[in-house]
Amino acid sequence: MIYLVESFYSIQGEGKLAGVPSLFFRFGGCNLKCPNWGEYFFKGKKVFGCDSVFAVNAKLFKEDWKKIEEPTQLIEIYQDLTKELDFKPAIVLTGGEPLLYWDDEVFYKFVEFLVKEKLLVTIETNGTIQLDFKRFPAYKEVIFSLSVKLSNSGEPYEKRVNKKALATILEHSPYSFFKFTLDKGLIEFRAFEEIMDIIEPFEGVEVFCMPLGDRVEQLRKNDKAVAEFCLIYGFTYSDRLQIRLWNRNRKR
Ligand code: SF4
Repeated sequence: MIYLVESFYSIQGEGKLAGVPSLFFRFGGCNLKCPNWGEYFFKGKKVFGCDSVFAVNAKLFKEDWKKIEEPTQLIEIYQDLTKELDFKPAIVLTGGEPLLYWDDEVFYKFVEFLVKEKLLVTIETNGTIQLDFKRFPAYKEVIFSLSVKLSNSGEPYEKRVNKKALATILEHSPYSFFKFTLDKGLIEFRAFEEIMDIIEPFEGVEVFCMPLGDRVEQLRKNDKAVAEFCLIYGFTYSDRLQIRLWNRNRKR
């Protein structure tokens, strides 16, 4: 059983395909919580987590989660959202952690459909889940945005870094890239060491660094430090265009 939290048409705000018109499918569920990344109030309760907490916390946000039992349900959403477009937008499968469903028949059939349509498909993942490209070859046609979490997420190293899973993805999907979320504190502390520990075995893979923040004011606190960090170490700066343009609006 897979859960879809939302689907919408917008521009990709982060990473290699920033600015590209894209259709987003956000799936519910995550194997991490990233408790240090934000604080939200929902129905009078304080919730800690990332800016996609509504796609992570099944208990509090369950009315947003829709069960998907057939790939045709997702294909129909795709057809509906694209019916007035004269071109094929890029597709982003995000979450939560969409790869929780990597070997689910419904999820995989949808990926196969997208690949057969020759769409540019990105899966945004925390990179901790081991895939099998032999049994599920359609994933070879997908770009993985590997948003591996650093210590500022509040997750322990053993949970947030799986180098074997990263190696498998990068061996089979050559256009995949790393995307790290940094804040001033981590930059002053040990961001470079943490990033190098993760990327060292994977020479030549592009590395994007973006500022932590789920609202414009928070981005502004971190963005210049991240840009300076990129200038020193040769990483590529990624902004979060969706937040600059629409701040905290959902479905953007
Ligand atoms: S891995 Fe991503 S979706 Fe999951 S809790 Fe962390 S930031 Fe949120």
